[in-house]
Amino acid sequence: MPPWNFFLIQALSGEIVSSKEATIFTPNGQQAVVLVSCAPISIKHDKQRILTGAIILFQDITKAKDIEQQKNEFLSIASHELRTPITIIQGFADLLTQIPLKEGSFDELTQSALMHIVDQSEYLTRLIDAMLDIARIEQQQLSLNLATHDLHHLLIQVVDSQLMTTNQHQLHLVVEGLQAHEPLPGEFDKQRIVQVMSNLINNAIKYSPNGGAIEVGLRVTHTGESLSGKYRDAWLWVKDHGLGIAPNECSRIFERFYRARMTDNSSLSGFGIGLYVTKEIINRHGGRVWVESRLHEGSTFYVHLPLHSPHRVATELVD
Ligand code: ADP
Repeated sequence: MPPWNFFLIQALSGEIVSSKEATIFTPNGQQAVVLVSCAPISIKHDKQRILTGAIILFQDITKAKDIEQQKNEFLSIASHELRTPITIIQGFADLLTQIPLKEGSFDELTQSALMHIVDQSEYLTRLIDAMLDIARIEQQQLSLNLATHDLHHLLIQVVDSQLMTTNQHQLHLVVEGLQAHEPLPGEFDKQRIVQVMSNLINNAIKYSPNGGAIEVGLRVTHTGESLSGKYRDAWLWVKDHGLGIAPNECSRIFERFYRARMTDNSSLSGFGIGLYVTKEIINRHGGRVWVESRLHEGSTFYVHLPLHSPHRVATELVD
């Protein structure tokens, strides 16, 4: 039965279906990607509505899909090709910045030029990585490298390394439901969770241009027990007292390339990709990310991260 038949059945039972993607075969045997919309048709009889049929509409989006696919492939190839030379430039510039320490041979101008090269190539690397992530997400190829890690320890490490990036902000970690160094094992992709937390803390720093306190939080809750072990959930948050986000933009900032008006007009640079990737990573872990914010008062980003998938509860800690 062709997939659109189900939409037709829905319409015949009184529902409206709009823009559902389906693949169909045209009469000449070619495959086409279409958006299907369906609606019931009824007439009024004796103050009652009688269903007389349904209307179905196909919108052929095969060409648009092809172009989208080509764009994604281009993005992915271009990013890969760019990454290698940038990594080499960054590596050599890094190496050269270390020479003066040993031999005292570079003047101040050369040193500052080298620092700029390192800074800018790091920036380019981040941009390329973000583009690669976007290409992966669009092609449904963002895969997770799941293993069991200590989330508590990981968060301490992330906060420590972010502390070094600012002397204008007071960054502190709040942990609820755990002892000082009590491990919190969970099954997740370590690199990706570091990426998520670093991005949220980075944003909190960036969008609080006047400095201030930034709270990074972790709370653990028990959701239950089964034959395969205990289920725990982690709740993470990053709270700042910075620029804040207008209510109508709070959900939009998770869209690809979206930057809130307040910050887009300012001199704070960004690509509008970080939160899009963050949302995808957390969704893939079976969790959720959201924000509560007040314009000019600050924002709190929350992450709900389920810690165990039912099949892997008994695995050993990797670190
Ligand atoms: P970028 O910061 O590179 O623009 P993100 O995807 O990380 O991209 O964020 C998207 C947008 O969300 C930002 O441009 C900014 O407008 C808004 N935003 C994110 N974090 C904060 C924050 N802590 N405070 C205020 N606005 C924020």
